[in-house]
Amino acid sequence: MNKFAFVDCVTVDEALGQLGEGATIKAGGIDLIDLMKDDIVSPSKLVNIRNVDSLRGITITQDGLRLGPLSTLSEIAAHTQIQKSYTALSDAAGHAATPQVRNMATLGGNIMQRPRCWYFRSTDFDCKKKSGTSDDCHAHTGENQYHAVMNNAVCAMVHPSSTAVPLLAMNAQVELTSKRGKRTVAMTDFYVPPEKSLTNETIVQPGEIITAVFIPTPDPGTRSAYQKYGEKESFDWPLADAGVVLVMEGTRCSKASIVLGVAAPTPIRSSAAEAVLTGKTIDEATARAAAAAAMQAATPLSQNGFKTQLFQTAIYRTVLLAAGQMQRDPSAIG
Ligand SMILES: Cc1cc2nc3c(=O)[nH]c(=O)nc-3n(C[C@H](O)[C@H](O)[C@H](O)COP(=O)(O)OP(=O)(O)OC[C@H]3O[C@@H](n4cnc5c(N)ncnc54)[C@H](O)[C@@H]3O)c2cc1C
Ligand code: SF4
Repeated sequence: MNKFAFVDCVTVDEALGQLGEGATIKAGGIDLIDLMKDDIVSPSKLVNIRNVDSLRGITITQDGLRLGPLSTLSEIAAHTQIQKSYTALSDAAGHAATPQVRNMATLGGNIMQRPRCWYFRSTDFDCKKKSGTSDDCHAHTGENQYHAVMNNAVCAMVHPSSTAVPLLAMNAQVELTSKRGKRTVAMTDFYVPPEKSLTNETIVQPGEIITAVFIPTPDPGTRSAYQKYGEKESFDWPLADAGVVLVMEGTRCSKASIVLGVAAPTPIRSSAAEAVLTGKTIDEATARAAAAAAMQAATPLSQNGFKTQLFQTAIYRTVLLAAGQMQRDPSAIG
């Protein structure tokens, strides 16, 4: 690990003043310090925002849910109104990582995690995403069992954020603050696919801080669910996860939002699956048809074909869970 300066800030203005060449924001530090210890990133200054009180807090108004970016995954999971009205978000936060990690991990840091790709995270390998100076994607020719099964032609990394899945399904917006002022970005535009940029995974620019995440009040009749499947019980990132938000009129679905995490380099909505459900009665057959439609666009690599089946199961069960037709799946993690 390189030598670096550490600056503690207590206001957003103070933190903005400290950002600049070589400086990086530190929240819980879980992903950042990992990457520094592995020499994948080497900032010369850490701007610690963990003591900025204005970045904490969870408030619910008639317009929706406002989350400070320092809200921890534990706080989100334990919040009774989030459990009731934004169930998929509380489930995603509560099933990520371990209890200890969830106590430190912040929402802002969670959606800003860097790629999960073992080649990206090893100094033994260079690749086109990591340096931009090589044309190689080792995942295309090497070990790729955890990699993307969709949109993987340029780079097959997956974005690991569990909370991004329900945030995208719930049409969340992210508030970004810089010295120039504030701007609000829809979650649909937040992540940048490798086809558009190999170096930036998000739309966040140097000098910008996430200062809030906002989710609009759900339509009447909205129900949501999130399910995660992986290698090891509760301790690991998902191999397949799905977030489903349904607006239900009795057993009929009038609006559906289906998002897949770790299927592609960014969390993605499946309009094909949504089309299958919209206007239909939700039952096992429609849930299965939606799951199959979502995976029609899959382009699995040499070793990760099993993930397409895992995703079909995840989507099928999450749809039924959201529709209230299934109990929580004991084989899902968490
Ligand atoms: C064993 C293990 C299992 C895990 N399993 C999961 C899982 O299943 N699902 C999951 O989602 N995650 C999982 N994680 C990852 C963990 O949830 C993230 O590392 C954590 O959420 C990152 O949050 P942080 O506050 O520590 O971020 P940091 O490490 O402090 O920051 C991460 C990045 O975000 C940037 N950043 C942080 N806050 C802001 C802000 N307000 N504005 C702008 N940029 C900001 C930082 O500059 C940095 O680049 C796991 C981690 C471990 C160790
Ligand atoms: S998947 Fe992306 S990050 Fe991983 S080796 Fe290929 S180009 Fe690099």
